[in-house]
Amino acid sequence: MSGRRLSQLKRIGVAELRRVGPKRAAALSALEIESVYDLITHYPRRLVDRTNQQEIAALAEGEEAVVTAKVVRSSSRRLRNGRSLAEITVADGTGTLVCTFFNQAWRARQFEAGDTVTVFGKTSLYRGRRQVANPVVDLIGNQTGRLVPVYPQSAKAAVTSVQLAGYVEEALERAGEFEDPVPGRFLRRLGLIDRTAALHGRHRPETKEQWMKARERLVFDELLRLQLLLVSRRRATAAAAKGIAHRVAGRLLARFEENLPFELTGAQKRAIAQIRADLEAPHPMNRLLQGDVGAGKTVVALAALLVGVEGGYQGAFMVPTEVLAEQHHLSAARLLSGLELPDESRLGGSRPLEVALLTNKTPAAERARILEELKSGALDIVIGTHALIADRVDFARLGVVVVDEQHRFGVEQRAVLAEKAAADPDLLVMTATPIPRTAAMTVYGDLDHTTLDELPAGRAEISTRWLEGDQREKAAWKKVVEEVRAGHQAYVVCPLIGGGLEAGGEGDEPEDPDLYEPEEEDDQAPRLVVLEPERPPRGAVEELARLSAGPLAGLRLALLHGQMAPKEKEGVMAAFRQGELDVLVSTTVVEVGLDVANATVMVIEDADRFGIAQLHQLRGRVGRSSLDSWCYLLTSSEPTEQAERRLRALEATQDGFLLAEEDLDLRGGGTVLGARQKGRSDLKLANLRLDRQLVRRARQVAEEIVSDDPELGGEYAALREEVSTLVSEEESAFLFRS
Ligand code: ADP
Ligand code: MG
Repeated sequence: MSGRRLSQLKRIGVAELRRVGPKRAAALSALEIESVYDLITHYPRRLVDRTNQQEIAALAEGEEAVVTAKVVRSSSRRLRNGRSLAEITVADGTGTLVCTFFNQAWRARQFEAGDTVTVFGKTSLYRGRRQVANPVVDLIGNQTGRLVPVYPQSAKAAVTSVQLAGYVEEALERAGEFEDPVPGRFLRRLGLIDRTAALHGRHRPETKEQWMKARERLVFDELLRLQLLLVSRRRATAAAAKGIAHRVAGRLLARFEENLPFELTGAQKRAIAQIRADLEAPHPMNRLLQGDVGAGKTVVALAALLVGVEGGYQGAFMVPTEVLAEQHHLSAARLLSGLELPDESRLGGSRPLEVALLTNKTPAAERARILEELKSGALDIVIGTHALIADRVDFARLGVVVVDEQHRFGVEQRAVLAEKAAADPDLLVMTATPIPRTAAMTVYGDLDHTTLDELPAGRAEISTRWLEGDQREKAAWKKVVEEVRAGHQAYVVCPLIGGGLEAGGEGDEPEDPDLYEPEEEDDQAPRLVVLEPERPPRGAVEELARLSAGPLAGLRLALLHGQMAPKEKEGVMAAFRQGELDVLVSTTVVEVGLDVANATVMVIEDADRFGIAQLHQLRGRVGRSSLDSWCYLLTSSEPTEQAERRLRALEATQDGFLLAEEDLDLRGGGTVLGARQKGRSDLKLANLRLDRQLVRRARQVAEEIVSDDPELGGEYAALREEVSTLVSEEESAFLFRS
């Protein structure tokens, strides 16, 4: 084998290119392009087909415009309503077209007069002039050729797409042929082109077909590297001898099950049996537990911890927010009460099981006691937030770790907790809502999977309705009043705290609505136009006042948000649990924390600002018993097309697995994966939505390769080198560890 290796290019700085001087190198660095490898994997995001262009004079009202033209002038000004308006006027010899942008003043500085650009967007006629609102405008410059790649660039970075194309051209010419690390038999079987053709085809395609085939190959490589890592890691953990073989008779577990106020579902029983087998085996457990909202994951987690405790170890249960930690602690206290452990030193020969709660808000004295008891082994189970991974927390014999809502923790944090154990502890990871199959394969591909595919019996349907506009929301308030009169309770969730308080604090941030703008995609026509909301989103503080004075007057309302003092928060939650309050007006702090079976109405304000998973999770706060329940999704402004699809999906189904797939369809991969994904800077082109099939193929090839040669030697040596140099270090540290 000969030819250039990608890993070599990673060691060559971009300044080595003739066209890149120190100043340009600094500008590239701002785009996180340091090496020639970074440069040639900074792929174009779009391809402009110059043959498929229209003349400005021929554009009619309402038509999609695709024109290449020269910038004549640009300007920005402030309007009377306080918004800013930027305009870029372009001309192509047949006419002029004005591109308008609201509240994006920087657009006026984006291009200079004389620049050649392409414009995509919908034409409208306004006072006789042609204009297009919020178009996609790309700099084409003096590039020739029928197909012109457009590179991602930010408003700030001082490198244009045209310059990038030039640097890449030089880099590819000087690099020459690339070595292909994937054995030819796989490429032939999957119909993939070779690496050299793929890199050229993506940056300098002559045909659209080349551009697409190039993408397929490059995406496959990204996914294969990742899958090799995951499959190897899974195999390495399975082979590790350092795990704990928990020795238990199952007495504690049996007592726990007897004490439960309900019968376990079949799915819960299967999951517990699987986990118990894992714990008894000598290798460390690494298992993902998935299940829909309300499927009863907490009980399964507690069962796992109990197996460890019976075998003489301690258990840690780590969750992302304080509210959730408190909720789990409460459930644990209730479900584990009365359980005893054998203890020769005690008079009766046994002692009660000890469970504690540890968060950053735990008072100092209490905290000191907990730390002491964890260290001495007097505490059996600790439930907490990332306070658990603080330096000063030491365990006597940590044996089982449960991490809930893992997507909010990084892989590193989980590893820190695991390191607090003498041997490799057994790990159970739980997700808040189901995640789609290909995402699970990519993100949790190193774990064994268990799915709770059954809800406890007798759960009633939650009727879900989207109500648009201030008039129609009255139906929601009417239902709240009715249900409260019938002795039930309700939640009202707002996207913001309001009252002049900054949003923020643990578990209290509304998801960034920007996340839900469509990802830019290859060959994609215009971006969606995001309309301004007609009124600002509602804050819980103001909403509490408005509702108590108006639609919900006479009911017992209270406020709950993440910035309240812990005591105050606990007080409100306790009062709500005990039925002393009718309606909780809150932020998303209730998202995963509250478990009140008597609550039957969930009203979500400005629901278009939330993502599918979050809406589903919020809705899951009701319908937790056999009582009929309702969920109302309120919106004030015209939602974007994406938001509308989310709301319709929620109305259409209550199945979290279906919603997860829909979510992936809507959002693409990146944001579904959260923290775990962020470390994966190696996935530059792959999109878990578009590339479902490639994910499966890469997985299959990785399994074949690893079973053929777990060491990845011989013909796989180049792949091995690539995985260890191109996949982020923290990730690859796990590889070949054994
Ligand atoms: P999730 O899977 O969403 O975390 P939880 O563990 O919070 O669900 O359980 C939801 C509710 O259902 C809790 O009140 C829990 O006590 C109850 N529950 C769990 N398992 C069962 C079961 N087998 N039968 C009836 N109720 C159950
Ligand atoms: Mg839960």
